[in-house]
Amino acid sequence: MTAVQKGFWKTKSLSEMSEAEWESLCDGCGKCCLAGIEDEDTGQIFLTDVACKLFDSGLCQCSNYENRQKIVSDCVKLTPENVPDLYWLPKTCAYRLVDQKRDLFWWHPLVSGDPNTVHQANVSVKGKTRPEGRLKTAGLLKRIKKWPNPKEQPPAKKTVKKAAPAKAAKKTAKKANRV
Ligand code: SF4
Ligand code: SF4
Repeated sequence: MTAVQKGFWKTKSLSEMSEAEWESLCDGCGKCCLAGIEDEDTGQIFLTDVACKLFDSGLCQCSNYENRQKIVSDCVKLTPENVPDLYWLPKTCAYRLVDQKRDLFWWHPLVSGDPNTVHQANVSVKGKTRPEGRLKTAGLLKRIKKWPNPKEQPPAKKTVKKAAPAKAAKKTAKKANRV
């Protein structure tokens, strides 16, 4: 596997990426592993909270990524060629963003350097899905979920205020008594 070049997604097209770069482009949101329902009139996709049988909700990833297509016949392998046509990919999907020549969001692990930011930003479905089981379309309709909008910015870092030294605090109290 070849190395990942710094900032590669800003300079390379999907088809120019190495295998390692391609794989690292997935932010791990898990939304492409959810069942969606398409409105035939408008083409709008409604995502449910029902995940593919191979999806590990706790880890927010495919439990058998290597063999996924052998086990789940309708699992679509993303390629530089098919990404432009996969209209059901979430708007935040990194492959879609790069294909549209857009930058990645702050929560993407390649930007933040932290694989957890995709979860902190409310983008992922980690721990929020249920397995597909034997649900039919009618059951799926009841599972349509309004997934939250991503947080626009990273949470502000908490700053710890240094407490005044005890002596200084005493002095202030005395002064206050004199007034
Ligand atoms: S939607 Fe895109 S970024 Fe999210 S898990 Fe699927 S491939 Fe990765
Ligand atoms: S087989 Fe794996 S990658 Fe494919 S949809 Fe299911 S969980 Fe996602």
